[in-house]
Amino acid sequence: MTHIETIAARAGSRPDPTSGALSPPLQLATTFEHAPDGRLPHGFLYQRYDNPTQQQAEQALAALEGARRALLFPTGMAAGATALQALPPGGHVLLCDDSYFSFRALAARQFPRWGLTHTIVDFTDLDAVRAALRPDTVLLWAETPSNPLLKVSDIAALADIAHGADARLLVDGTFASPVLQQPLALGADIVLHSATKYLGGHGDVMGGVLCFAQDDAHADACHQLRLLAGATASPFAAWMILRGVRSLPARMDWHCRNARTVAEFLAAHPQAAAVHYPGLPSHPQHAVAARQMRGFGGMLSFEVAGGREAALAVAARLRLFTNATSLGSTESLVEHRASIEGPESPTPGGLLRLSVGLEHGDDLVADLAQALAG
Ligand code: PLP
Repeated sequence: MTHIETIAARAGSRPDPTSGALSPPLQLATTFEHAPDGRLPHGFLYQRYDNPTQQQAEQALAALEGARRALLFPTGMAAGATALQALPPGGHVLLCDDSYFSFRALAARQFPRWGLTHTIVDFTDLDAVRAALRPDTVLLWAETPSNPLLKVSDIAALADIAHGADARLLVDGTFASPVLQQPLALGADIVLHSATKYLGGHGDVMGGVLCFAQDDAHADACHQLRLLAGATASPFAAWMILRGVRSLPARMDWHCRNARTVAEFLAAHPQAAAVHYPGLPSHPQHAVAARQMRGFGGMLSFEVAGGREAALAVAARLRLFTNATSLGSTESLVEHRASIEGPESPTPGGLLRLSVGLEHGDDLVADLAQALAG
């Protein structure tokens, strides 16, 4: 089997037949010539339907996830919303309790309009997941590791539960990327990534992708919905994502290494009341993470002793960690998630989420040390 480093490094790279160029071309055309009899000589009709650069990015992403098919979208939210809207009306969705907060908002506000219902469950408690199943459950929506508490759920066990109930399992694997976790190989049916994060990798492109284990009716329904509703990624975004993917494994290794250094420093610091990082043996699902992940990722969160005000003060004192949302870029970021998620947020007030970037780990630790010293 070809290693993921090799698949990524060569993604989209084949000599262009017209010029011999090695790096993937960017094709911006919105429309493509028909043959006199109406056929499409190259299979392309109109950019919204399909286009060569999007197709190249999708082939690369499908190869990285071991998927039968991948569909690219302009954002991670568009990808997720499409997977949900394509479900049969009347369906019931089990949503993990620490899923990205906008998906919980989407479920609360939009599901009634789409004829869907949902139940929020702690996916680290498999008995609770089994108990929440209903005859009309069509999808289990897992996010692992989760945002922002870094909860880890057991993908293989969830896939068994889902399939035993004739439902699908979708895994939002944004925090792990395909390099650290391969949900389809563990039995999941669909993997979602916000390509805005590690896949793009440089904080300058938005995108989302759905990777399907089977080229089945649900994948087709998602494709149809994208085509008709118009949630097509721009060729430029697709090209940027393809460019990012080529260095993904090397970046993920460094993110993991830096995050471990930061997590170990925080775990020993008296001002850190709790550290949420699946790579720490003290993490409640460390064993599951060690089994299903190749590395523990670049994301972590910690709770500052003293709560909300103390956490805000620490964030304000940090110099290398920029106070900004999002994650997965080269520069380190810090965010007080409860402020962003709003008054209904279940996220602890003292929690700071860190996206650990590609700087030197010692510099990041020094920055945290000065900020925690006050
Ligand atoms: N999934 C996770 C885990 C996220 O953190 C995010 C965004 O932060 C999304 C999905 C949504 O992605 P996007 O912002 O590209 O729409």
